[in-house]
Amino acid sequence: MAGFLEAITAEAPPLAVISSLHSGDVPAVEEEGFAILASGGGEANIQIAPDGDVCDDCLSELFDPADRRYRYPFLTCTNCGPRYSIITGIPYDRPFTTMAPFAMCPACRTEYEDPADRRFHAQPNACAACGPRLRLLDKEGGEVALGDAALRAAVALLREGRIVAVKSTGGFHLAVDALNDRAVAELRRRKARDEKPFALMAGDVGSVRTFASLDSLEERLMEGPERPIVLVRSGEGGAGTGDREISPRVAPANGYFGVMLPSTPLQHLLLRDIAAPLVMTSGNISDEPIAYRDAEALNRLRGIADFFLVHDREIHTRSDDSVIRVFRGNPLFLRRSRGYVPRAVTLPAEQRSVLAVGGELKGTICLTRGDKGFMSQHVGDLKNAATLRSLEETVSHLQRVLEITPSVVAHDLHPDYLSTRLAADIPDLPKVAVQHHHAHLAACMAEHRLDGEVIGVIFDGTGFGPDGTVWGGEFLLGGYRSFVRCGHFRPVPLPGGDMAVREPFRMALSCLHDACGPEVFDLPLPCLGEVAPGERRLFLAMLERGVNSPPTSSCGRIFDAVAAILGVRSRVTYEGQAAIELEALAERGAAWGEYPYAVTTGDTGKVVDFRPMFMAILADLAGDGARQDIARCFHLTVARAAADVCGRIRAESSVGRVALSGGVFQNRLLTEMLTGLLEEEGFQVFSHRLVPPNDGGLALGQAVIAGQAAP
Ligand code: ZN
Ligand code: ZN
Ligand code: FE
Repeated sequence: MAGFLEAITAEAPPLAVISSLHSGDVPAVEEEGFAILASGGGEANIQIAPDGDVCDDCLSELFDPADRRYRYPFLTCTNCGPRYSIITGIPYDRPFTTMAPFAMCPACRTEYEDPADRRFHAQPNACAACGPRLRLLDKEGGEVALGDAALRAAVALLREGRIVAVKSTGGFHLAVDALNDRAVAELRRRKARDEKPFALMAGDVGSVRTFASLDSLEERLMEGPERPIVLVRSGEGGAGTGDREISPRVAPANGYFGVMLPSTPLQHLLLRDIAAPLVMTSGNISDEPIAYRDAEALNRLRGIADFFLVHDREIHTRSDDSVIRVFRGNPLFLRRSRGYVPRAVTLPAEQRSVLAVGGELKGTICLTRGDKGFMSQHVGDLKNAATLRSLEETVSHLQRVLEITPSVVAHDLHPDYLSTRLAADIPDLPKVAVQHHHAHLAACMAEHRLDGEVIGVIFDGTGFGPDGTVWGGEFLLGGYRSFVRCGHFRPVPLPGGDMAVREPFRMALSCLHDACGPEVFDLPLPCLGEVAPGERRLFLAMLERGVNSPPTSSCGRIFDAVAAILGVRSRVTYEGQAAIELEALAERGAAWGEYPYAVTTGDTGKVVDFRPMFMAILADLAGDGARQDIARCFHLTVARAAADVCGRIRAESSVGRVALSGGVFQNRLLTEMLTGLLEEEGFQVFSHRLVPPNDGGLALGQAVIAGQAAP
């Protein structure tokens, strides 16, 4: 009996997730024989499995010339393969998947009906005789090759440096030989993507080690059935495969590679045949959702890909690759999507059923039932109609397949977010508007199932404050039901509004003007040259009168300012770029200590004033301070100031637990420093492990706040 209990966890199938395990005595019912009853009709407690990698058994069949599924790119069994992406309805049976049009051949049918077979009730079961088939198309949609010949032709094209769109689990990837600098440059040009890093796919961890260094947890995450992109440090001294190196254009100025291993039989075959790492970037044009239907991909990616490797098993639900980096022995999600979705997060308590629609950037939704929160795949930045439509589809699909009818809708407090408008358009349900940083706080508390009150250190780029200003460097005290703003960064003007986000030199000017007044343009800083001499008076007037310059306490913008001052970056081509490159610079530096800062107390709580720090950074730059050391001391200053404020809040409130959330905590160096300082002071520190600290985790916090609010 004890052995049986142990085996349930120890020998659980790879895709099984045991959410709880109880044992006890029940009276015998004199059953004879063993049967699995038909699905459906039971209490609605549906959980749908995420898409998973090929299992070892299937993998050995794939490469066994004697097996009837040798080199068949759609083999699968009950332990592996696509799930969430192919499910069209419930119950999870073949007619409710995109495998419905394929009738099983007698051999497949026999496996499907044999309880002793690994493919017993494997809904997507198929073989070359009865299942989906590969096709290679040119960009006009003309068929170039079919079946295994299509795969071999695609490999030859990739070797020649051509760009091939490959249909994967959750959408199309654009693949190119990662060792071919010209090909990578061409992909960047056609994708209109100047600097944002491309993800890589390597055949196995051995191959990853030839160009990156990884620790045991990074290796385990990479090899797990979820197959996320794992951020790993790029190898020292330009290690390459043999005498060829990964193109420097894959991840410029970054220090990290995002690497994943194959997760579909097709990718396993592709990587085995080509025997070199491939760039595998999402098949989209910047900011649009990833393409996932054949016709749509041909239409939208025709200007980028030379060829298309497609097949006739449809993707019903698109999902991007998940992205993880390791922090203190735990995974830290930057994006939680394919492989994890829609696995549930256990909430702190049973609550009413909520639909939470998230924020604007990195959109996701959350649906709850009882004490389970189901987070959707990454939908993207809700800045265009295509992404909004994708969010709407996600809402209705997840409600249907999880059989959840929410009784309340939660959304961000920002009146103009497209997600807020989507929430407003849902008829007949009460709405709860949740302040952005309160949602971050609640998300971090919820995944640790905390109760009561905590101090929330919420650092991000932007969020709508109840006072109408842009928040982002916030110290909150509270729980799910309420919060108080106990402190924040000293507000500075955001010159040009959204333009300041794309042009960090604007924040450098704003912060330096705040610190040393109108003489700012006399400073010997290259980034100030971004404003032409004739426009300087106008720029100063804009700052002084607050024209098109809303005040912001954003933490992300302080990182932007310092990045511009240090000459890291004056303009960015993707969100967070300046901060990411500043962190990479700081990682190479040494901190001799922190810069001065001040903490004052006003009507809005403690105010962290970084003006002394900016003056000290200028002095350091004018002396012979090395940029990487200044970058590192800056990180330490932010951490020290945050720990300082937490200490003051604890002295007044006796709350000793701190939750760290917000997109800035994707920064490993800062998180490490702040966690260390807080723990030295005896604080209990909580950071994210299950959902991203960025706005991709927002919906979870919204869901718990609305779920626990008095109806
Ligand atoms: Zn399998
Ligand atoms: Zn078959
Ligand atoms: Fe945020």
